[in-house]
Amino acid sequence: MTAPRLEINLTKIFENARVLIAALAQKGIEITGVTKSVMGCPKVTDSFARAGITQFGDSRIKNVERMRQSGVSASISLIRSPMVSEAERVVRNSKISFNTEIDVISSLSSAAEACGVIHGVVLMIELGDLREGIMPGDLIDTVRRTLRFPGIKLKGIGTNLACRSGVAPEEKNMGQLSALADIVENTFGIRLEIVSGGNSANLNWALSGADTGRINNLRLGEAIILGRETLHRRPIKGLHTDAISIVAEIIELKAKPSRPWGQLAQNAFGVMPPITDRGTITQAIAALGHFDVDPNGLIPSRGMKIIGAGSDHLVLDVQAHQLRVGSEVEFDMNYSALIRAMASPFVTKVMKENSDNLKNKAAIH
Ligand SMILES: *Cc1c(COP(=O)(O)O)cnc(C)c1O
Repeated sequence: MTAPRLEINLTKIFENARVLIAALAQKGIEITGVTKSVMGCPKVTDSFARAGITQFGDSRIKNVERMRQSGVSASISLIRSPMVSEAERVVRNSKISFNTEIDVISSLSSAAEACGVIHGVVLMIELGDLREGIMPGDLIDTVRRTLRFPGIKLKGIGTNLACRSGVAPEEKNMGQLSALADIVENTFGIRLEIVSGGNSANLNWALSGADTGRINNLRLGEAIILGRETLHRRPIKGLHTDAISIVAEIIELKAKPSRPWGQLAQNAFGVMPPITDRGTITQAIAALGHFDVDPNGLIPSRGMKIIGAGSDHLVLDVQAHQLRVGSEVEFDMNYSALIRAMASPFVTKVMKENSDNLKNKAAIH
């Protein structure tokens, strides 16, 4: 079979989604299934939907369009602030977008009027992680201005933590989001449909027994796909952490010294790798590199070590593994490795329906 390839186990993703939906439903929280890490892959979206996810979110309009073209009719939110230059594509393909700038909302309103639709807006609020968001003190004014646009309906508010600075969602910042929802509703006499508390980093808080207040939505991607919460990257109980793996083929296998010889300077990526002398090792090269994946995000199986990576070569100390040239090696991945591999034209994506039955594999593009 062709390599390198991502093996995407749809059954495991489906099962992960089911567990999370059930756990959060007890707290009155709905999931927006975030599809960016799989670039809106129709098969994965379908697994989300079969598990009971009724709304999707993606950061890229291209992915949203891909989902529309593949027949997804459910609500899709654009969860990154739209660019002014893509306003028309946004209102045509997504019902809701997450916003922080009046100029963007103004463009969306004009585009929506031109297309004869009403576009939903969720206002994102800055609560300390210092990425996107309206400063809390500016929220009332922003809501007032948003409500005046004829092509726009204010759907709710939200926040995003733990992405840029690693600020953890906890009672204080989540309580503040709830309080802001109440203030907006009372000030303007409106009802906010969505109070979106955050991403996979919110799971510890949401499932801890804390009062979840007004928060009725979380946008989850990594937790469903990789089965981990994202504050400490601990596996979530009851979830599969190996739903997606990458397979590469060995193209060289030799006993080599572990210590390079000759004068040492920078490698291809501008660093001087540390030197260790562990004597002679069994060194394998897999046909996999920075073009295909983030090598730092690969998790090798036991008894195998990644000792170097270039644009096209992954150098392994394969220790006790019985490999030959032409053998395949499989790695679990972190988020960074996953999104690079997904976006790489060199990596084939293969869907599996059941973890135990390799015969159920069917290649797509
Ligand atoms: C990517 C993203 C998410 C989903 O994050 P996960 O860690 O994959 O759950 C949620 N909200 C926003 C704004 C995002 O960009």
